[in-house]
Amino acid sequence: MQTNMLINGEMVAGQGAALPVLDPATGTQVAEVAEATPEQIAAATRAAHEAFESYRLSTPSERAAHLLAVADVIEANIEELAELETLDVGKPWPMARDEEMPLTIDTFRFLAGAARTMGGSAAGEYVAGHTSMIRRDPIGPVASIAPWNYPLMMAAWKIAAPLAAGCTMVLKPSEITPLATLRLAELLADVLPRGVLNVIHGGGASVGDALINDPRMEGISITGSPATGMAAMRAASRQIRHVHLELGGKAPVIVLGDADIGALAETIRYGSFFNAGQDCAQPCRLMVEASVYDKVLQAVTDQVGQIRIGAPRAEGTEMGPIVSEIQRDRVAGFIDRARGHAEIATGGASGEGPGYFYQPTVVANVDNDAEIAASEVFGPVVTLSRIKDADEALRIANAAPYGLASSVWTRDLSAAMRLSSQLRYGMTWVNTHGVPTPEMPWAAMKGSGTGCDMSIYALDAYTSVRHVMVAH
Ligand code: NAD
Repeated sequence: MQTNMLINGEMVAGQGAALPVLDPATGTQVAEVAEATPEQIAAATRAAHEAFESYRLSTPSERAAHLLAVADVIEANIEELAELETLDVGKPWPMARDEEMPLTIDTFRFLAGAARTMGGSAAGEYVAGHTSMIRRDPIGPVASIAPWNYPLMMAAWKIAAPLAAGCTMVLKPSEITPLATLRLAELLADVLPRGVLNVIHGGGASVGDALINDPRMEGISITGSPATGMAAMRAASRQIRHVHLELGGKAPVIVLGDADIGALAETIRYGSFFNAGQDCAQPCRLMVEASVYDKVLQAVTDQVGQIRIGAPRAEGTEMGPIVSEIQRDRVAGFIDRARGHAEIATGGASGEGPGYFYQPTVVANVDNDAEIAASEVFGPVVTLSRIKDADEALRIANAAPYGLASSVWTRDLSAAMRLSSQLRYGMTWVNTHGVPTPEMPWAAMKGSGTGCDMSIYALDAYTSVRHVMVAH
């Protein structure tokens, strides 16, 4: 497979070390992609820097037209891009094509419209004889780093908001899942103005680190692990730069005694396992009121035990492999360390075949302080622990270092309102979990990050508010 990078409007081959890309369903190599060299990284950041001078002056409607064109390109190539996504990550094919791609396209279409809402909320004569106005202007060229769990959709979240805001950028997809993003870059080479979007390939420590430390980049945007977020903060501190971070999560699922247990179990079956649990919003930490704990455990275990694990392209597959051997072994390590002080209700072993499969796993009777309950596993694992009441769950959830997704399951409206208003999480769903929509922010609090993706608020990370005063 021939795969190149996009630098200053041209497709160029990486001149650095060749990195293998593996199919997680079989463990076989499907491509080899060369990393960018330091010179190529510099060429990409220079291109973004130079393109910024004209792109920042484009009108919102011009930028909207670019984003709509990107959406059309993805729509016209949906099968191929979904195919690459399935090959890269091992996720079931219908999920890549019918869920991720439409949301990816819709993200560009929504932010095309959002670009045209950019304006200030104040304009008037606050000092006699002087008219003030608010401007929102782009922060500058942005270094963007994406993860491997939803490679193209995460790339869309990284690309759409800065481009809507008038920023130019250099994007680096994850080195283990670059195929769909590099193909999209190729499809966009003639669609976007030269240098506005540059896409380079390489590892985190090599290319990613050089990119976020490049002094031409005035913003850094990362979706990835907390460790990478901290690296971005350090890089930003050398030069005072804007930082937008979407990091890890460990979503509490608070289940009260009057919850609809059937609906909860179905949501867990789908929402916790559909991407083999590799989802920052994964509903993974069930805290269940003691009165219904046994029923919830039974219902969840029954549902999870029925998940059809298999090849991503096979008919009826609900869950594919984990993305890599390293990640599969990481998940297995969490489960092995949990044995002995928690009960493995179902799963708990690697799956069959040469690929990186791991069984959908439910860990019951988990102590809330246990590693498996408190740390992000990022795999097909959910835990259940007993709680006395809603207040205990709220205390435990808010004490966690993470603050991304959460959900509350109850038929009691006032309990739902109270918990959702007091949870320190960027997103709280009631009687559902993890449903995204481009109009609403994918928002982080505490150690899960700063700012948000999607919604009109995504533009905040890429714009500076300015005051212009005219004397008359
Ligand atoms: P990761 O941090 O290891 O890698 C993410 C990206 O960062 C990759 O492109 C990698 O090459 C790059 N990177 C790594 N070290 C770097 C460095 N020092 N400098 C610059 N770039 C560097 O994370 P991952 O394993 O790919 O993704 C999983 C993590 O991402 C999980 O913690 C997950 O929760 C999080 N995530 C968060 C969201 C969200 O919206 N909050 C979405 C998806 C994934």
